Amino acid sequence: MRTNLLDLDADRLAGWFAARGEKAFRARQVMKWLHQACVDDFDAMTDLARTLREDLREHATIASPPVVSDRIAGDGTRKWLYDVGNGNAVEAVFIPEVDRGTLCVSTQAGCAVDCAFCSTGKQGFSRNLTAGEIVAQLWSANRLLRSATALRPITNVVFMGMGEPLLNFDNTVTALRIMLDDNAYGLSRRRVTVSTSGVVPMIDRLADECPVALAVSLHAPTDSLRDMLVPINRKYPLADLMAACRRYVAKAPRDFVTFEYIMLDGVNDTPEHARALVDLVADVPCKFNLIPFNPFSVAGTQIAFRRSDMGRVRRFAELLAEGGLVATTRKTRGDDIAAACGQLAGEVRDRTQREVRIIRKSMSADAGGIFST
Ligand code: SAH
Ligand code: SF4
Repeated sequence: MRTNLLDLDADRLAGWFAARGEKAFRARQVMKWLHQACVDDFDAMTDLARTLREDLREHATIASPPVVSDRIAGDGTRKWLYDVGNGNAVEAVFIPEVDRGTLCVSTQAGCAVDCAFCSTGKQGFSRNLTAGEIVAQLWSANRLLRSATALRPITNVVFMGMGEPLLNFDNTVTALRIMLDDNAYGLSRRRVTVSTSGVVPMIDRLADECPVALAVSLHAPTDSLRDMLVPINRKYPLADLMAACRRYVAKAPRDFVTFEYIMLDGVNDTPEHARALVDLVADVPCKFNLIPFNPFSVAGTQIAFRRSDMGRVRRFAELLAEGGLVATTRKTRGDDIAAACGQLAGEVRDRTQREVRIIRKSMSADAGGIFST
């Protein structure tokens, strides 16, 4: 079986070349071709001997899951849907802003954590993505964006797409290492954020093995409420999570953790909840990011939660501020193409499958439009 070179971080690539009797600097050369030039063809690697290029063709691939949908929202947000086989699709979203370009990547097809408000959770868990499939989202986005805009359109990566990155720990860390590598994407640790529902032991491992910016999906100030919204809380309750956050900050590239807090009308958005949060995080250096809930439906039925209205969100943010906390409210982007947080799977699997089918049909009819391959 041929090795997908997008799966290999610098050490593994050097090991792979060493096993073929090649010098270590070949790995660095190839790393640059793969991730800086973003080539998909060994023949484009013009500073490699022809015999080496032939050897690579025989034993290696540069394999990215096929892009089956490519859509751009009115606000410039762009969403790609990748076919990862067996009827599974995952998504990546590019969010352009004045001073940066952020790519949101997926780490799993589906998710086993099954948060009450999340469309990915409602799909169930299919499988972990390989490191190459995670990296390929950045690799292919770079290829597609570079032709359209600036040379380095992606300045930040957030692991906030489908799946729980810390339950696919090894592949997530390999992908992180490639994203941070100076011979690859050279992103700074502060500009790469892993978001977790709170897999406590893996937060510690991330701090030790590959510290990057950390976001924790908090969503509730008490165990009883969080047990319902984020079921992994039953295994790793709030006291343990807060302690893990404190330990993480000591080793992290940023001196705070970002707490994500989804605003669910009447569920977790009252002044009492805000005050309880202030107490909960009293000794964790942190910032809050309030996320208005994005509705979606499961098999045609709208999920029971509602988005808190903006007045309520503002009041909540004020109360956090009065408690000495910094709180920002996330702008919802890409609504019109279901690219907002938690909508990535659209109407849950069903819709994803239908979308893939529609695209296949339109491709075979050679139709243009918003979809491309
Ligand atoms: N599994 C990780 C990362 C992916 S989810 C995690 O849970 O942190 C990324 C963010 O989107 C999380 O904060 C999650 O709570 C949020 N999210 C999920 N569903 C949402 C929805 N319907 N509306 C708004 N945000 C949502
Ligand atoms: Fe999984 Fe995150 Fe969705 Fe929860 S919010 S189900 S952890 S992807």
